[in-house]
Amino acid sequence: MKKSSLQYLRTHTNIEKVIDGIAPELLKVGGDGGMPYGIFVETVEQAPIAISITDKKANILYVNEEFSKVTGYQAADILGENESILSDKCTPRHVYYDLWHAISRKKIWQGQLINRHKTGGRYLSDLIIAPMLNDNGDITHYIGMHRDITESYEAEKKVTNQKLLIESVINASPIAMVVLDLEDRIILDNHMYKALVSDLGKGEPAHYFLQLLRAEMGNLWSQLQEQQQGFSNREFRVECKNQHTARWFSCAGNWFIENEVNADAFFENGSKPYLILTLTDITQQRRQMEELHIQTLRALMAEDERVRGIRETLLGAMHQIQMPMNQIHAAEQILKHRNDSQHSSLLDILRQIQQSGEQAIATMQNCIPEIRQSAVVPVNLNCILHEVLLLSGQRLLSHDIVVEWQPMLEVPTLLGSENRLRMLFKQLIDNAIDAMAQVDSRERNLKVMTGSNAELVFAGIQDTGPGIPREKRAKVFEPFYTTHPGNNQAGMGLVMVKEIVNQHHGVITIDEDYQQGCRFVISFPVHKKPQRGLS
Ligand code: FAD
Repeated sequence: MKKSSLQYLRTHTNIEKVIDGIAPELLKVGGDGGMPYGIFVETVEQAPIAISITDKKANILYVNEEFSKVTGYQAADILGENESILSDKCTPRHVYYDLWHAISRKKIWQGQLINRHKTGGRYLSDLIIAPMLNDNGDITHYIGMHRDITESYEAEKKVTNQKLLIESVINASPIAMVVLDLEDRIILDNHMYKALVSDLGKGEPAHYFLQLLRAEMGNLWSQLQEQQQGFSNREFRVECKNQHTARWFSCAGNWFIENEVNADAFFENGSKPYLILTLTDITQQRRQMEELHIQTLRALMAEDERVRGIRETLLGAMHQIQMPMNQIHAAEQILKHRNDSQHSSLLDILRQIQQSGEQAIATMQNCIPEIRQSAVVPVNLNCILHEVLLLSGQRLLSHDIVVEWQPMLEVPTLLGSENRLRMLFKQLIDNAIDAMAQVDSRERNLKVMTGSNAELVFAGIQDTGPGIPREKRAKVFEPFYTTHPGNNQAGMGLVMVKEIVNQHHGVITIDEDYQQGCRFVISFPVHKKPQRGLS
């Protein structure tokens, strides 16, 4: 076989010319008719790649052993045949055109073709064709070298397909996903994640949420990372730029290890941890919950207001009784000092009135209902004000009041009672609505904002009503003082406000500089969070 292939080559070409330049010690003449037979020939024969030599028309003059293995054709079957015998006839014509265009211009061509094995099976061939030139530089032969790359191609294609499949599954996911390395670099993300980049206006969303997660988890974050333990259901409220309502996201994370693929890790396995972070938009569920919550709050606050109404009525009545009682007490003292027996019966009557008055006050005192207490917890002022605005929505609408809601994006918490703080702000907003409702012509604008510095978190409630005259500003916090007495108002609202502010170690002021109406500024100490660890 080996012999016949070489013999065929010898008959059809001047092989001696080819071996002219080879050192004599590398060539030794074989014992079969002076055929040149040496290391070079043996090298081509045994080369682990299918080699063929053709004439200028691609008629096969020589094939090596590997060629027979790859194509299934023995030398005797194929010598004298054209290389096109290998063609499966499904390779596009332009491939052959390019092939011949290159090699006929004395260039090397490399590409992939579909070949047909002698037994009929297709295989993918990775082929290199090089022209062989004579002394004049003319093409005399072509040498073809090819490998069957079907298996490696299929394996590569499978990996690519799998990657594409994973990518399309990840991309089709309605949940934003992002993979990060240890340096917080984004390795992979999906369409939903990309949409968040522009929607949230927070720069790189992954970095924004990582910051929130690390701040919330403290030491727990690095402990989970070390132990490769995932986390889930970490919910965050996100104030988005250019959007009136906040959005809610539930974050989950899982660390996974990937084997390194660079050359350094070829002999020694190396691996790197990655974090897959999923961000689920739960705004809709939150809104539904919020609606239910607001309904519950409405009912609770209605009850609170009823209790407050009763308290104020009783306190007002006690206050009113107390005044004549004081006068009676004064009259009694005067009569006592006169020591006049003539008025002793009057003195008795006054004492009886005094006693029954005190009894009436004591009875009323006992009837004052208790205000509902709630737990002291870290409170987000934005949430409280947002709820109060929702609770007041109907009133604001019916008075054509435009609301300007300017929450600070990441407002620190304060320690307090949500229920009481809600009452406080509801009272201030109700007052603002009442004040603006008095003014017919002016624009009705309610601005609610939050802010903070290192020590304080504050809220501003500002209206475009008639404002409170400078001389009355201190008095409005006194019991039973009202700027519009005809309106059936007991004048206890701001007393309650002040009381709640005091309970939270806060301060309430009326902004002196604000001229377009009234502006209350309420500030509270910031709640400093203790660091949490893994327990
Ligand atoms: P063909 O009619 O043979 O050729 C198609 C087109 O190729 C023609 O339209 C023409 O543009 C061009 N062409 C053909 N012959 C020449 C020529 N002598 N000079 C200039 N242009 C020409 N093909 C394979 O399918 N598998 C192989 O493994 C393979 N190995 C090859 C190895 C070598 C060393 C060489 C030189 C060629 C090889 N070929 C191989 C190409 C092969 O010779 C055919 O051109 C190809 O198979 C197409 O065959 P065909 O019968 O479909 O079309």
